[in-house]
Amino acid sequence: MTELSSGTDGYRPDVVEAKWQARWAEQHTNEPDLDRAERPFYNLMMFPYPSAEGLHVGNLFAFTGADVYGRFKRLQGYDVFEPIGFDAFGIHSENFAIRMGIHPGELIPRNIVNFRRQLARMGGMFDWRHELSTTDPAYYKWTQWIFLQLLKAGKAYKKKAAVNWCPACKTVLANEQVINGECERHPGVKVEQRFLEQWFFRITEYAERLLENLDDDAKMDWSHSTATAQRNWIGRSEGAELEFAVAGGDPIRVFTTRPDTIFGATFMVLAPEHPLVEPLTSPGQRAEVEAYRKEAAARDIVSRRVGDKDKTGVATGGFATNPATGHKIPVWIADYVLMDYGTGAIMAVPGHDARDFAFATKFGLPIVRVLAGSDEDPAAALTEAVPDTEGMRLVNSGRFDGMPALEGMREITAWLEQLNAGRGVVRFRLHDWCISRQRYWGPPIPVIYCDSCGAVPVPEQDLPVLLPPLEDFRPDDTGVSPLARNTEWYYVPCPACGQRAHRETDVSDTFLDSAWYFLRYPGTEFTDRPFDQDRTARWLPVASYIGGNEHAVLHLLYARFITMVLHDLGHLPFEEPFRKFRAHGMIVKDGAKMSKSRGNVVIPDEYITTWGADTFRMYLMFLGPFQEGGDFRDSGIAGPRRFLDKVWNLVDQSSRATAIGGELHLPVAVKWNQTKKRVTEGLEALSYNTAIAALMELVNTLRETNICERRIVKDLVVMLAPFAPHFAEECWQRFGHKTTVFGAEWPAWDPNMIVEAELEVVIQISGRTRSKVRVPAGSSESVVVAAALRDEAIKRLIGDKEIRKQIYVPDRLLNLVVGP
Ligand SMILES: [Zn+2]
Ligand SMILES: [Zn+2]
Repeated sequence: MTELSSGTDGYRPDVVEAKWQARWAEQHTNEPDLDRAERPFYNLMMFPYPSAEGLHVGNLFAFTGADVYGRFKRLQGYDVFEPIGFDAFGIHSENFAIRMGIHPGELIPRNIVNFRRQLARMGGMFDWRHELSTTDPAYYKWTQWIFLQLLKAGKAYKKKAAVNWCPACKTVLANEQVINGECERHPGVKVEQRFLEQWFFRITEYAERLLENLDDDAKMDWSHSTATAQRNWIGRSEGAELEFAVAGGDPIRVFTTRPDTIFGATFMVLAPEHPLVEPLTSPGQRAEVEAYRKEAAARDIVSRRVGDKDKTGVATGGFATNPATGHKIPVWIADYVLMDYGTGAIMAVPGHDARDFAFATKFGLPIVRVLAGSDEDPAAALTEAVPDTEGMRLVNSGRFDGMPALEGMREITAWLEQLNAGRGVVRFRLHDWCISRQRYWGPPIPVIYCDSCGAVPVPEQDLPVLLPPLEDFRPDDTGVSPLARNTEWYYVPCPACGQRAHRETDVSDTFLDSAWYFLRYPGTEFTDRPFDQDRTARWLPVASYIGGNEHAVLHLLYARFITMVLHDLGHLPFEEPFRKFRAHGMIVKDGAKMSKSRGNVVIPDEYITTWGADTFRMYLMFLGPFQEGGDFRDSGIAGPRRFLDKVWNLVDQSSRATAIGGELHLPVAVKWNQTKKRVTEGLEALSYNTAIAALMELVNTLRETNICERRIVKDLVVMLAPFAPHFAEECWQRFGHKTTVFGAEWPAWDPNMIVEAELEVVIQISGRTRSKVRVPAGSSESVVVAAALRDEAIKRLIGDKEIRKQIYVPDRLLNLVVGP
């Protein structure tokens, strides 16, 4: 870090920042009246997980960007509610605690104290009265209550499911946490497949609505990239469910998006776990099938889903009937077909599917082509699967020959429906949400198991089910949560019949904690309700939510789902929680991703100590477009600091100068108004870097022209306030104001002073008037020359002649003297 050399006379960030942070707290500056606010604006940012390392610069970048927006809205006259809290349950905290050998119940509160200090220090406009932590029983009581509402409504259920199991984490992993068959937290550790009883939420029932609302601008104004990620994740596809008859048993059901290719289905593949494998297997194939099933069970789901280049599989010896051709086709098993996905069975169309083609080629299965271009020979031998392209027609498809593929899809589905062999259906890629975790650090799922009554919900008046103290909270290999070891907690009387029963030992997914925290913030003081109806009506849905795009599909989808369910159950008056969502960018260090192993992690505390929070905030926001991110370089931070020093001096001069009044020098007046427009628009669009650049230009103009009119410098201070709040407060006070700068009015610009800003400059060539160009008033010579050289007439007249001399009369005339 380079030290400041000069220009620090007067401005002392450490003094200014400490002073204003204390004053904001004393005067409750950041605490809107939640019951009476007339222009409520809920400004939300993604609450952090309180790691032991403290707030990292990525957090600070995101929070600063959200805080700048909240402060801007406040200056526009809104009552801004900007809460913060801690997402403190979950496997991250727990694994860290295990590594350190410290109980999470001890570690997390310590981390929170540190986070709170750091957050206050960055100068966020946080309403600390409404801080929350998901680990607080007063909070998770209501997380459990939400579970019970879903259970009562039939939206929660338990089933045995194939899950990814990390032997090192000793827990279930989501598919996203499995990278190339290994645990994301434990590179080198192979993820296994296990079958466990798990709790699920029926998010798939909401797939269609979750998808539809994404296109409803009145409900959702979201970053395009985030909405697209959700759309892909939900993954709607239209197709058909088809039945392939099997001698003397249940038919094999498959889902296909391409029912038009059914005449090309020459074999079938079942997942090794498919229940029909058993009855279909012929005695001669039994040993081979059994061996293959064992092998497949040891593989994780993700690498099976991705699939190997070299296909493996075993024939069952059984056959099914293709309902279109009437042919008996062989049934195989292969691990690239998954039980959880679709129906656990596929019709293989090797003529038009690369994976099926590879499989058929390897095992010598027939390949039939059923789609061809009009000028192609459909009998030509295939060397690879033919992908479907526009304009293809059906061939080898009986009565449907010659029909365009798209039409064939509809016609063949209708025909199979008549034959009772299928029906058109809509499918989603989205799975139900598995919310149980066989871990310690989470809210216990509020269910009691009784031998007579089965699974009984914990009565609401008995909530919260407290997470019991447990010295040894480490998970073990049994796949049962460590909570089961605390027998005193484990055994309870059944709430229904009073018999000895036992508790559910799984805790809920940390994504359930974060799926509703924004509903809690406005009413944290109420202990008898999860959220207050009046407060909810006043403050929600959230007006602006800013967070990382890495949360596009899990957190943001789950929060929408929980809100939708609570809406349907009559608890909320809206079904979409976040009216506006914007994804922020990422910052890198000197062109490289920040990581501990690279040793290039920016520790915010050090920079804030050296430069002050305001300079650091400005630097972060100046790195690049907020929604794209930027490259953090130590050399860059001196620029914003020099800028603040200049403003400090301008304030000094302007507050001593007597007002000049009257007509302002035109180019300065224009620059002043243009700046107000650019800064306002830049802030609204989260183009913070362009807003800061505009402020810097204005300061340069004021210094160059030596005009430091008080009204202009005052506007400058107000416009700076979202970025450098402490600094702006101090300057505001130096102007003699007794109240916070955030009570000031946002500067309005005069539209006439922007339109007027353009004027016509006459262009001469060697002294003869040839054209005119429109340029901003006060443009420099080079700007006018460039504009002249873009002019068609001038371009033609100059041709390849050399410009020997140029004479410029500002705002009037440019004479280009050209050579022969
Ligand atoms: Zn792991
Ligand atoms: Zn009972």
